[in-house]
Amino acid sequence: MRAVQLTEIGKALADADVSIPRIGSSDVLIRIAAAGICHSDARYRAGISKLDRLPLTLGHEVAGRVEEVGSGVTYLSAGDRVCVHYLIHCGNCEFCMRGLEQFCRTVQMIGKHREGGYAEFIKVPGANAFPLPDEIPFEVGAIMMCSSATALHALNKARLEPSESIAIFGFGGLGFSALQLARAFDCVDVYVVEINPAKLASAAKMGAIAIDARAADPVEQIKESTAGRGVDVALELIGSAKTMHQAVLCLAPLGRAALVGLTTELMSIHPYTELINKEAEIIGVSDHLATELPALVEFARSGKLRFPSDTLRVVDLDATQINAALDALRDSIDHVRTVIIPSSDE
Ligand SMILES: [Zn+2]
Ligand SMILES: [Zn+2]
Repeated sequence: MRAVQLTEIGKALADADVSIPRIGSSDVLIRIAAAGICHSDARYRAGISKLDRLPLTLGHEVAGRVEEVGSGVTYLSAGDRVCVHYLIHCGNCEFCMRGLEQFCRTVQMIGKHREGGYAEFIKVPGANAFPLPDEIPFEVGAIMMCSSATALHALNKARLEPSESIAIFGFGGLGFSALQLARAFDCVDVYVVEINPAKLASAAKMGAIAIDARAADPVEQIKESTAGRGVDVALELIGSAKTMHQAVLCLAPLGRAALVGLTTELMSIHPYTELINKEAEIIGVSDHLATELPALVEFARSGKLRFPSDTLRVVDLDATQINAALDALRDSIDHVRTVIIPSSDE
C-alpha cells in the first residue's frame, strides 16, 4: 500500500510502498478515508518532539471504513464507518482499569510510537475504533479525534457546568472547538482572548465576547464585563506563562483554570490573593479519554460542533502535498485544517 513516512529527522516526508498490516484477533484493519495533518506532525518532522524509531508513518487523526475484523472483535463489521482514538493502551494496568488510559504504562500513540494514518490502511485494536454516524463526513471524523477531543477533555476536567462563564485564551484549533463545545454545554458568556484581529472577528461571529489583548489587560477587561466577579472557568490554550497567569487572575471565587498549552516557562502566582482566598484551582489537561469520544461524536452529529467546508482543505496521499501542508502549519493563523483523502487507484 501507499504510505507517506518520516525517514530522517529534519527532512521532508517521503512516499513509500509498504505492506498492508496483518491484524491480530483483537484488531481491525481500517481503509483510511481521511487523515488530519496536525501541528504535532510538523514538530515530529522538525525533531522538536522526539520519535522512538524511523522510518515511521505519521498521522494520528484517522477515520475510514473497517476493511477486516479480528476474530475477537464482535462489535464491528467490515464496511462500518469509524473514527480512531489515537491512544493505544494495555487495558489491564492500574490506570487503564480506572479508564485513565493516557497514563497507561505502555501507552502508544498512533503516528508517533506506531504506524499512523498517512497511508491507505491502518491496524488498530478494535477498542480504538468508534462508530462514525453517516451525518459526519470522514474528514470531520478524522480531525475531531485530536484538538476537539482535547478541548472536550479540558472542559470536563474544568467541570464546566451549564450557565457558567468561561474565558478561552487562544483561538487556534483547540479554541475553535472549545468555543463551540462551551456553547453546547449551555455556557452563556464565553470570552475569547486573542491578539489576532481575524481570529477575534471569527470568535465574535461564532457568538463569543471577543477580548482584544492588545487593547488593554485582558484580565481587567474580563473583570469589567463581569462587574468585578471574574469567570468560572478559564482555558489556557496558548502555552505561555503570561497567559496562564492571566487565566488564574480572571477567575471568580471557586473558579478553575485548565492549562492545556505547553510551555517549559515558570509561572509564578501569589498563593493567598490569587488562589487560596478564592478557593480557585489550577488543573493540568493532557490528551483525552476513550470514554469522552461518544459524547464528542454526538456533538458533531447534532451539529453543535461544526467544521464548515471553508475550514477544510484536502490533499492527496502524496509526500509533496503533505510536506507543503506541514510547512504551512508552522505559521498558520487561520482555522483551515488540511486533511489527506487518499485517492483510490483500484
Ligand atoms: Zn493532532
Ligand atoms: Zn494500561
